[in-house]
Amino acid sequence: MIQSNNETNDTRFACVGCGACCRGRFVPLTLNETHAWLRRGHSVAVLLEAFDETAWPQGAPEFDYNTLRSAPVTCGSASLQVIAIFAANVIPQCPNLGEDDLCSIYAERPLVCRIYPMEINPFIALSPSSKDCPPESWDQGALLGSDRELTNQILQSRQADRDDAQRKIQLCEAMGLTVAAWKGNGLTIHMPTSEAMLVALESLEARDSSQSTWRIKAEDEDLLEALERRSYALEGGASTDFIFHQL
Ligand code: SF4
Ligand code: SF4
Repeated sequence: MIQSNNETNDTRFACVGCGACCRGRFVPLTLNETHAWLRRGHSVAVLLEAFDETAWPQGAPEFDYNTLRSAPVTCGSASLQVIAIFAANVIPQCPNLGEDDLCSIYAERPLVCRIYPMEINPFIALSPSSKDCPPESWDQGALLGSDRELTNQILQSRQADRDDAQRKIQLCEAMGLTVAAWKGNGLTIHMPTSEAMLVALESLEARDSSQSTWRIKAEDEDLLEALERRSYALEGGASTDFIFHQL
């Protein structure tokens, strides 16, 4: 089992309730949380990234970790893995954030809201300087490494990533969202209406494998040539159907 990055963390942290993490971002959701979010009438963005075994050096543990949170799809005359991230759109701010900067659905807030500022990905170390929490929230409170509840929430989030992977891809296909960015090069960001996504989610039928043909969007000439050599279908030119966010 991959160790939680929380288990080795000796950083102190205490949330000061500033609400900064509830503004200007996408908040990843599990599939159940996506359903609840949509039923509240809020919008969910779909972020897609594709990869195969060439995305990391041979034998890298990142490949196994990401394979478990992805699903296989057909792309051109080959197949690859796609990770679908469903994320609450809290830009410019979360619809559940009150004027007092407190969460109005605190008892039901998503897992990621409970975990922040910790990282869920075991290959990303916590860096306080990259977080929105103010200086006074660090170096006070409990050691993050001794917080068993936080560790369990991180493990729960990773498990949901694995459990939901196939159904999230099926939902993307049902909505016609089949262009993914190449992992590490970018993310495609799709913004379906909450009504359309809720209908698609509630009428989703269980099936085992991908039924659509996917395309890859990338913005690097060498990468594009390499992907073409591997017989993947590429998305060319600009599109109004999604945003390409280059990394
Ligand atoms: S659900 Fe609550 S904790 Fe999560 S981003 Fe919205 S206001 Fe913040
Ligand atoms: S940004 Fe940090 S300190 Fe502020 S509410 Fe979010 S978790 Fe708490």
